[in-house]
Amino acid sequence: MPIQSLKEARSLGLIDARAETDLAPICSQFSMLVSDHWAKMMDPHDPKDPLRLQMMPDLREMENLPGDSKDPIGDRAHEPVPRLIHRYPDRALLLVTDRCPSLCRFCFRKQSPLHGEEPPFDLEAISAYIAAHREIREVILSGGDPLMLKNSQIDAIFSHLEGLGHVERFRIHTRMPITLPERVDEGFCSLIRRKKPVYIALHIDHPKELSPETLRAIDDLARAGAVLVSQTVLLKGVNADLETLTALCHRLAALRVRPYYLHHPDRALGTAHFRVSIAQGLRLYRALRRRVTPLELPIYVLDLPGGYGKVPLDTPAVCEQSPGHWRLESPLGGVFDYVDPVWEG
Ligand code: SF4
Repeated sequence: MPIQSLKEARSLGLIDARAETDLAPICSQFSMLVSDHWAKMMDPHDPKDPLRLQMMPDLREMENLPGDSKDPIGDRAHEPVPRLIHRYPDRALLLVTDRCPSLCRFCFRKQSPLHGEEPPFDLEAISAYIAAHREIREVILSGGDPLMLKNSQIDAIFSHLEGLGHVERFRIHTRMPITLPERVDEGFCSLIRRKKPVYIALHIDHPKELSPETLRAIDDLARAGAVLVSQTVLLKGVNADLETLTALCHRLAALRVRPYYLHHPDRALGTAHFRVSIAQGLRLYRALRRRVTPLELPIYVLDLPGGYGKVPLDTPAVCEQSPGHWRLESPLGGVFDYVDPVWEG
């Protein structure tokens, strides 16, 4: 069973009575949910365990920095149809669910309630919008975690959209093969064997997440013909060090997963303690580039607040004008001043 409360965490020996009391205000603001697979992998005796740090509530979640918000990347500014985000001309992102099997403490999703009705997902309206926008070449299933849907629901989305000639491929953003790998079943593998390519972007932050069950799931996806890429969030205390990132990139490439994005963390409420400064992130990234091959190197990106898109950080389009003050060119056009709230001098 997943862990959904501090009481359950205490009964499993993950926290003591004092922590159960101290963390109660955190959990009343941000939901707690840890899949049983992830719970088994956490080290109850190591407060610095990278798996524990990513899923267990922390007193530091009360601390916010200027600019931290409920909607840190401004998705809702580009939502022409409910649950369809059209931010980049050639891609449509479908928010097929708000649910995840585990809630990561660095993600704005931890603000979501665990129960209750999900807003409706109108496949007909979404399909009509995509049909009318022939510039959309890729449809991305995101959320939440799209693998919270039944296989039949995912199949219905693909079947509805693959007849549109201008849609060249699908992509699924998921953490399920890592947080609940048994979800990757034969039914799911069979539905990604289709004429149009299905890319799967796996969210993996630390080599310790690569359990035997996850390795099996990744292997099944690769054998089913999915094109596998990875997304990693740069997290202080978890993976923001050269040894961990190098090991992760090496392992992923060896598993046929192409490292794709290294995300600078979003400015979500209750996540400041996970953030390094952009300057620190860039130093780390440039050191990483000297340790891995180009095939193993992800692109280090920042999602601009306000919905202005992802900016690759290690490019001439980004420059630090004075300590902590950055000038960034959006891929969607426009130049933005960005004050890094984590700048530490
Ligand atoms: S959307 Fe992804 S990162 Fe966010 S809580 Fe869900 S699984 Fe974690």
